[in-house]
Amino acid sequence: MKTSYKPDKLGFYGEYGGAFIPELLKIPVQELSAAFSYFKEDPSFILEFEQLLKDYVGRPSPLYKSTHLSNRFQANIYLKREDLNHTGSHKINNTIGQILLAKRMGKTTILAETGAGQHGVATATVCALTGLKCVVFMGEKDIERQYPNVQRMRMLGATVIPATSGSKTLKDATNEAIRHWINHPDSYYLIGSVVGPHPYPEMVAHFQSVISKEIKVQLTHATGKELPHRVIACVGGGSNAAGAFYEFYEDEEVELIAVEAAGEGVYSGLSAATSILGSDGVIHGSLTLLMQDRDGQIIEPHSISAGLDYPGIGPLHAHTIRSGRTKACPITDDEALRAAFELSRNEGVIPALESAHALAVLEKLTIQPNEVIVINLSGRGDKDMQTYLEYFTKNHESI
Ligand SMILES: *Cc1c(COP(=O)(O)O)cnc(C)c1O
Repeated sequence: MKTSYKPDKLGFYGEYGGAFIPELLKIPVQELSAAFSYFKEDPSFILEFEQLLKDYVGRPSPLYKSTHLSNRFQANIYLKREDLNHTGSHKINNTIGQILLAKRMGKTTILAETGAGQHGVATATVCALTGLKCVVFMGEKDIERQYPNVQRMRMLGATVIPATSGSKTLKDATNEAIRHWINHPDSYYLIGSVVGPHPYPEMVAHFQSVISKEIKVQLTHATGKELPHRVIACVGGGSNAAGAFYEFYEDEEVELIAVEAAGEGVYSGLSAATSILGSDGVIHGSLTLLMQDRDGQIIEPHSISAGLDYPGIGPLHAHTIRSGRTKACPITDDEALRAAFELSRNEGVIPALESAHALAVLEKLTIQPNEVIVINLSGRGDKDMQTYLEYFTKNHESI
């Protein structure tokens, strides 16, 4: 099967993608498509985007060679430090791009969904920066487990609306954000991952592709070659992975590893390993791989990490995993927690729980001496301290 990492006119990556939306959203989505197509080529838009990434976000983010991991695995292991971005994760790259688009479209109110709260914070931040109104939908359960981010959103002037349906997590927040958008089609819906109806997956991947553009330049400086042997990134919806993989899709010698949350075990019933457990279905406006039962009812996902706790996966990843271009690898809650403590204790970097899933893959690979591996460290762990401390209290003798 030929892999395409760019969608066709209807927004399909191979068999996945498209725009499955209610009639009332057809016009707003068409307007968005037209605006994105125009402004992504517009020199003044590009200039403003790049300027803000540099001066406001702090890009380029460093590509840091981890001494500890390189020694332990006898290889060259680089961390792409998205955790050092303003607001603490890769999410800000996309929100800067979309807020500039929303402004040019004349929008005044921004809607967003959030899981871990990182996208909510990144959206509230760019709304404060540009003077737009911000409404964030967040599952009640996530509000509890990521409370510091709720406080940050409120500090930034956003209204946080709890989603109380279903499992009270990201999927439910997204449902409520879409429902609100249908009733307020004049507002701008700022999606935080490579999910949703076309053109969102393409647009979010475009804004996040700055990650792999920088990796190529930085690796050339560090190693003399722009290609690593492997790039590893965790996948919730898949925006940090899309960004880290983007410039490498056509370099077939580079192995791309998408790390999914296996929760308490892939087949434990408490998992979010969508590429293994999922089947074709429509969720939040696109046809993709999705965890569902025989009646098409969504199976509630589980991950200790709120950012990976999603029953679907972006259509770009569904396609590239199915075609074999990207390799999927499941990591359990426990494996991620151990990797988080290892990096904290030995490198002085506390990773986000999501990013810790990507780190945990190293132990599962057969690594050749002197291999060059890039791990996308999608975010920092401040928001996860409560979870880390609970784990530490239970397991401190073995850590
Ligand atoms: C949101 C988030 C993720 C998961 O989202 P993707 O769209 O899959 O990148 C991963 N890491 C961090 C730090 C996040 O905040």
